[in-house]
Amino acid sequence: MTPYDATSGQGPRALTDGFGRTVTYLRVSVTDRCDLRCVYCMAEHMTFLPKAEVLTLEELDRIASAFVALGVRKLRITGGEPLVRKGVMDLIEGLGRHLRSGALDEITLTTNGTRLTEFAGRLADAGVRRINVSLDTLKPALFRTLTRGGDLAKVVAGIDAAQAAGLHVKINAVALKDDNAAELPELIRWAHGRGCDMTLIETMPLGEVEADRTDQYLSLKQVRAELESFWTLTDIPLSTGGPARYVEVAETGGRLGFITPLSHNFCEACNRVRLTCTGTLHSCLGQDDASDLRAVIRAGASDTDLADAIRLAVDAKPKGHDFQIARAAAPAVRRHMSTTGG
Ligand code: SAM
Ligand code: SF4
Repeated sequence: MTPYDATSGQGPRALTDGFGRTVTYLRVSVTDRCDLRCVYCMAEHMTFLPKAEVLTLEELDRIASAFVALGVRKLRITGGEPLVRKGVMDLIEGLGRHLRSGALDEITLTTNGTRLTEFAGRLADAGVRRINVSLDTLKPALFRTLTRGGDLAKVVAGIDAAQAAGLHVKINAVALKDDNAAELPELIRWAHGRGCDMTLIETMPLGEVEADRTDQYLSLKQVRAELESFWTLTDIPLSTGGPARYVEVAETGGRLGFITPLSHNFCEACNRVRLTCTGTLHSCLGQDDASDLRAVIRAGASDTDLADAIRLAVDAKPKGHDFQIARAAAPAVRRHMSTTGG
């Protein structure tokens, strides 16, 4: 077997779990920090991690590259807000070597968009082709409320900058019953009108936040039925390797995805695992399973030891999650989405 080479990311292939699913997709959270405080994601006063607990850029590169060597074809950089991490562009540019070598198909990013005016050009130059921007409303006042202080104009300017740099932008919105349900058709029309795909997400019970998620939860089955009362939605087989089911909207000519962790379980086709900024590998978004890869590398592990630890963690990937939105129920997992990475 070809030995693992950390620089090129070339080496032994195929990372398969105990249920025969092959892991080809790694999400890397590069920070737990954020310049926004979305109500469904974070508590108002979050305690962020001390620096020593957070992986350095070199450690992030090493672990991500080990996954590439084991057959991961797609990396998504996320957070917290990835673009607030100092040096994140150096990390992305460095990981770009795996795109050039052909070991990796894609590096993508999930961002709140506030810093895209600054970084869009560099992202495109680094080989990033597609990004997801989270945006739940086009109303400045509601945006300020939902994000606890965010400036909508900055995000829209960021999306403009990303598109001008040639990045394909997908808009992600969390469907919130009281806050943006009525506005969703307008948001979809806006996204499609500017050539963006759009994905709707159900709120997931991750981490303690002030709001009661039972109040915010809106089933996307319900949203779809509502949209179908005035639009023609046609299922399309588009697969981005993710859990979204896509439709085409005849009236807007755009694509719309539904991510329905609660009303439709998507675990059987799951191809992904998540690395937090502290080096913890979560092989399932909705379970408390965790493997500490930071301890492995900080104990001086060789590349082979690291690859073995990754294989072991992936082998134990749970069959699926069991999210439930029950009134007063505890979150399915204690960690927030900003810790795990969206
Ligand atoms: N800060 C970046 C952003 O907002 O795009 C990346 C990280 S954020 C945690 C990733 C995605 O998770 C966002 O689209 C956000 O809306 C979503 N998210 C956060 N908390 C969530 C929750 N409890 N349920 C569903 N989606 C959530
Ligand atoms: Fe920050 Fe993204 Fe969470 Fe909003 S969803 S608080 S932008 S990490």
